[in-house]
Amino acid sequence: MHEPRIPTEPIIIIGAGHAGVSVAAGLRSQGWDGGVLLVDADGRLPYERPPLSKDLLKPGSAEQVTPLRRAGYYQERCIETVLGLDIRQIDVENRSVTLSDGSVRAYHRLVIATGSTARALRIPGGDLPGVQTLKTFDDAARLRTQLTPGARVVIVGAGYIGLEVAAAAAALDCDVTVLEFQDRVMSRVTSEPVSRFFEQHHENHGVRFVFGAAVTAVEGDERAERVLTADGGSYPADVVIAGIGVVPNQQLAEAAGLECNDGILVDQHGRTSHPEVYAAGDVTRFTSPFDGSSLRLECIQNAQAQADSIVHHIVEKPRKDPDIPWFWTVQHGVRLQTAGVRHPDDDAIVRGNVEDKKFSVVYLRNGKLSAVDTIDSLKDFMAAKRLIGAALDPVLVSAPGTSLAEAAI
Ligand code: ADP
Repeated sequence: MHEPRIPTEPIIIIGAGHAGVSVAAGLRSQGWDGGVLLVDADGRLPYERPPLSKDLLKPGSAEQVTPLRRAGYYQERCIETVLGLDIRQIDVENRSVTLSDGSVRAYHRLVIATGSTARALRIPGGDLPGVQTLKTFDDAARLRTQLTPGARVVIVGAGYIGLEVAAAAAALDCDVTVLEFQDRVMSRVTSEPVSRFFEQHHENHGVRFVFGAAVTAVEGDERAERVLTADGGSYPADVVIAGIGVVPNQQLAEAAGLECNDGILVDQHGRTSHPEVYAAGDVTRFTSPFDGSSLRLECIQNAQAQADSIVHHIVEKPRKDPDIPWFWTVQHGVRLQTAGVRHPDDDAIVRGNVEDKKFSVVYLRNGKLSAVDTIDSLKDFMAAKRLIGAALDPVLVSAPGTSLAEAAI
């Protein structure tokens, strides 16, 4: 009997966020004995991102990173790390990468987990000091020092990031204005009832909203002093935060000739258009196994699920079915948890009482459960994760006292 051959080259993983670290950890837990090399341009021990816009901005926060794994973890598992250098080039023909110090490393398989970058405000004055985005620990630490009582904080974009920062800034007694292009908050990810609930909730904490706001310029002598909108509005600002979405970091992949279209295209195993190169996390675009739609998802669940697929494909073991995508945000202490991916034209059914701050919005597509938004309704969230794709009776869904499982037809 032949012993399996252990390749001499390592599996190289570019990017040590959730996706990259999950691939490295998963390879070891699934018994991969070959080399594993994890490279990240950030010199820090790989860290969690969700706290950056939440706990890290809280009054009295310790301003510390939350590591994804403790310091000794990588060495103990023979995961080589190169932190603080970036990869400049991928050569898929020769199976090698070039690092920013000029060194070249050959790989057995390559995993691109380069994540995404916060979209910058591309308007006059958008690069003035005082205008910033929130994506890295350094961004969060800088922002934390600027959120002083009375500071005028103008936030462009009412998505997850913009709203989490608005809540944190209001809690730190800042004067907060949110300028949003659409006519409601979180319009990309949720329905009108949830948007209106969160607007009211923010307004109760002193946050002001301006909807239909087309931001045209940031003005100031040395640094940002005001934000201008197309309708002649002028909003004085000490700090300006752009929370206007992210762009996938696909440049390396594109330059290497891998197929990309607002994300590196991957199949259900995490494979790119080149058979020896995989990609995982925010940087990827894929076809949903649940409804066949083309998705790019920014969530930890997706990063982990794709990492898991890649690991199992590399070690040639079958993997369990991926979990339903899920997301969460916390704003002024209220937690919104979403399971599944809603389409804008899904039917939306409200369950429970919005005034009690305990309700869900159930989304049905052709009578089948596509997603649910839950506010303080963990039961519905858990039930929906199991029921995605099931046909539900809309009357029972909205009936008080009926569980979601009981509404299944
Ligand atoms: P994130 O997850 O980073 O918060 P989202 O895409 O969920 O990103 O939300 C970004 C929000 O920013 C959207 O509601 C979008 O309508 C809004 N937006 C994007 N560009 C502008 C702009 N130039 N001015 C105002 N709002 C904007």
